[in-house]
Amino acid sequence: MTNKYVYFIANWKMFGDLRTVNSLDKVIKFSKNIQKNKIKLIYCPPSTLIQSLSNKLKKTRIEVGAQNCHHNFDFGAYTGQINSKMLKGVGAKYVILGHSENRQSGETDQLINIKIKSALKAGLKIIFCIGETLKEKKNKKTKQVLAKQLKNGLKSIKDKSNIIIAYEPVWSIGSGLIPKSKELNSLITFIKIKFGRKIPKILYGGSVNIMNIEKLKKVNGIDGFLIGGASQNTKKFIDIIKKTIN
Ligand code: PEP
Repeated sequence: MTNKYVYFIANWKMFGDLRTVNSLDKVIKFSKNIQKNKIKLIYCPPSTLIQSLSNKLKKTRIEVGAQNCHHNFDFGAYTGQINSKMLKGVGAKYVILGHSENRQSGETDQLINIKIKSALKAGLKIIFCIGETLKEKKNKKTKQVLAKQLKNGLKSIKDKSNIIIAYEPVWSIGSGLIPKSKELNSLITFIKIKFGRKIPKILYGGSVNIMNIEKLKKVNGIDGFLIGGASQNTKKFIDIIKKTIN
């Protein structure tokens, strides 16, 4: 870990209802007892819950983000879609873009690049996910894939100060598997070099849980974690945070 404050970003994926929103009382209470600037807590619920979560978290230091957005900056005839301005309007401050679950359903680097530009223009901060598949890893293509995703995804974006990178190996998401610490450290360093002069915040994501967090937190250069499955359970999520910062 770096010794700045640690990011914990919860990706609820397509889970959650109003009961789940109320379960955040415990997290709110917990976060109040943590020294300011020690952690940054961000919840990315499904779009249906962004407004209620924003209301609930209004007087706290916990922030809200979205899980994706449409590429079009303006309103338009796009049935079923939501753009970044609309997300901002209901309280989102961040948006996850380039998540492998969306790349797998057809999102290209080029489309992700347009989405990033549109979301930045709307004033959102970006959690930009990159990562290799198992096949690419086995074929020793990891660095090539990461470099390409970074280059194309961030094409012609000059000001990258509002972009956080989340390195999420596709083979690790939801599988219980995590990279070897040495490998992870070397990839984090690689991403920082490829990103350019201004070093971004870099998070790790993929099967983070109470059992492996002790190991992951020792990896140098990581600024925090993007957590899927384990973030949907308030107790597990709090335990992960406690184990990281204590
Ligand atoms: C994710 O979907 O971003 C993620 C990291 O999922 P999980 O923690 O469940 O592997």
